[in-house]
Amino acid sequence: MITKQYLRVLSLIFYIIFADCLLLAQQPLEYWDNPNEMLQDQAAILFEHTHKVLERNPPSTSANDERKLALFALDALLHDTRLDNGAAFFTYTERMAQTVAEELAKGKPVGNKVRFFRFYNHGFIVQTPSVTVAIDIIRGGGHNEEKHFISDSLMQLIIKQCDILFVTHVHGDHADEAVAKMFCEQGKDVIVPIKFWQNSDSHIRPLRGADMLKETIRISGKNVSLPVYIFPGHQRDVPNNVYAITTPEGITVMHTGDQSNHDDMKWIANVGDKVKVDVLLAHCWMMPMEESVAGIRPALIITGHENEMGHSIDHREPYWLTFRRLENVKVPYVIMAWGEKLMWSNGELH
Ligand SMILES: [Zn+2]
Ligand SMILES: [Zn+2]
Repeated sequence: MITKQYLRVLSLIFYIIFADCLLLAQQPLEYWDNPNEMLQDQAAILFEHTHKVLERNPPSTSANDERKLALFALDALLHDTRLDNGAAFFTYTERMAQTVAEELAKGKPVGNKVRFFRFYNHGFIVQTPSVTVAIDIIRGGGHNEEKHFISDSLMQLIIKQCDILFVTHVHGDHADEAVAKMFCEQGKDVIVPIKFWQNSDSHIRPLRGADMLKETIRISGKNVSLPVYIFPGHQRDVPNNVYAITTPEGITVMHTGDQSNHDDMKWIANVGDKVKVDVLLAHCWMMPMEESVAGIRPALIITGHENEMGHSIDHREPYWLTFRRLENVKVPYVIMAWGEKLMWSNGELH
């Protein structure tokens, strides 16, 4: 019996060494006349190292130089169109979604804590002990028959852990009909500003008024109600709901969508008088940034929408530019990479 176990361990060690040697043998030691493979392998190494550095330097209101360098490396990678839809990029996005799925499956936060997952583009998942809310989560990509950045199977796993989806507006970098359908199929509601999907399911619920609307949304299958303020915002002429969602634990989170309309500054200037926003999930290119934040008066800002790959590189919005845009904002802010998480309670990060 002991000999049998001993042999098994020995063969396992042999296999590990052999597999390692095989892997090493497969790695090229030169890339002459093969610049594309060189760029892909270089990108894979950079993505891998940014992941390691960000793990050691998690989201913070005072990002250190290591963390900044990792975010800036991501900017460089995600603004190099030679890498668009390459193997290194897809490995990165799938890993990001895999990390979110695994973290969500581990269980919910406890006490009065709220956990934020930064998803692709301006997608967020907000989780407290009693509820898990998704906002503007999409699979990304999928244009011209190309595959999506996040596979359907991973998206299903993530949605399994969510209770409801809020969609701010119709644009494809915020609204993904297939994702909405997955929520509906799992018996979960999808809140949208206006009816914009054909053959809508009864779970897809348009909610929007001429003025600010206050609704209490019951989570299907759970004894949980979410008070939600819906501000009738716009991105130019496109209706853009700005949601302020209060969790049963009393934490209010506002998501800006792509709010961008000069006339709406009238109500944005007074948001803080109507609702006490704890955390503002703001698109990084929100303009005017300082005036909008002064009107909303959040305790913390987390930015989103950096590096939307559907845009040309001048509007992909790098992380380094977010640091510049928020330099004079008086409220503490956190700049997160896709797939990162952040725990917050009583005004403090954990
Ligand atoms: Zn938009
Ligand atoms: Zn957008």
